[in-house]
Amino acid sequence: MFKIFCHCGACSIEIYHEKPTLHLLCGCEDCRQALEWGAINGAPRPSLLPSLFYLKSDIRKVKGRDKMKAVQLRQGARSTRVYCQDCYSVLGIDHPAYLNNVFMFFKNHCETNFKLPDKAVAAIYLDDFPPNASHLIPNDIPLFYSFPREREKFRSINAVSNSFKEPKTPPRGYSFGDLIKSLGQIEVLQLDQGKPV
Ligand SMILES: [Zn+2]
Ligand SMILES: [Zn+2]
Repeated sequence: MFKIFCHCGACSIEIYHEKPTLHLLCGCEDCRQALEWGAINGAPRPSLLPSLFYLKSDIRKVKGRDKMKAVQLRQGARSTRVYCQDCYSVLGIDHPAYLNNVFMFFKNHCETNFKLPDKAVAAIYLDDFPPNASHLIPNDIPLFYSFPREREKFRSINAVSNSFKEPKTPPRGYSFGDLIKSLGQIEVLQLDQGKPV
């Protein structure tokens, strides 16, 4: 069973699968802004190019639900992030495009019971990435600058299409979307549209 913990230990999410299905690096402004907001509240400082891991949205057990808070950056935002209200670890992220088949978390912004692989499959949203930090972008993995322009090429990577597709057998547990619904009102932060740093 794969388990995500927050840094203070109040919250955890356990899923019915052994390990993440996909590892990407993300250059988008929303990831940076969401992690910066966590850091302002006491979480560790984020990398400019965070590591994203995707998990099957098949939850077995949740601890610390009363400490969890669902947050969006702005009105009409598509991503919903679940933070621990004590340590501001990010326990998971949902996006409508995940279709409740997967959810996502950030390496270093929560703990896991499994050593996460170092090498990402691809880097995405590099059009948003600050040019003065381009040395952080690896040169040995596929790079994607913007969607939907490059969606087809991105989905042609087996690890990507396998990760996002509908599971062959129905999930045993409940989805990350169900967890978000159980947390009550989503807090909308009303942050300004992110600007490149
Ligand atoms: Zn915590
Ligand atoms: Zn991102």
